[in-house]
Amino acid sequence: MCWQRNKTPARWPDCAGGVGPCSTHDPDHNFVQWCPDADARGSPCENPTPTSQASSTKRKMNCPNHRNQAKPSSGNDDQGSGAGSYGSLTA
Ligand SMILES: [Zn+2]
Ligand SMILES: [Zn+2]
Repeated sequence: MCWQRNKTPARWPDCAGGVGPCSTHDPDHNFVQWCPDADARGSPCENPTPTSQASSTKRKMNCPNHRNQAKPSSGNDDQGSGAGSYGSLTA
């Protein structure tokens, strides 16, 4: 059974930023998330399961707008180079 996902407010306080404003929603539009059956069939199920989410705050990651952008500029190598460096989980 597929899932109906609705546009949901979200914040990314740790986003490194980039060109343009940060995203304000995740997902930023309503869509049906296909299940494996739907993938195999090539069409979504008729009655997707509604999912409800509260607005959320997503830490330690960039917003969707900036997730695929390189950092604007940098002089220090402190931050490493992006994806995959989630080594330390400090509270
Ligand atoms: Zn389905
Ligand atoms: Zn951002």
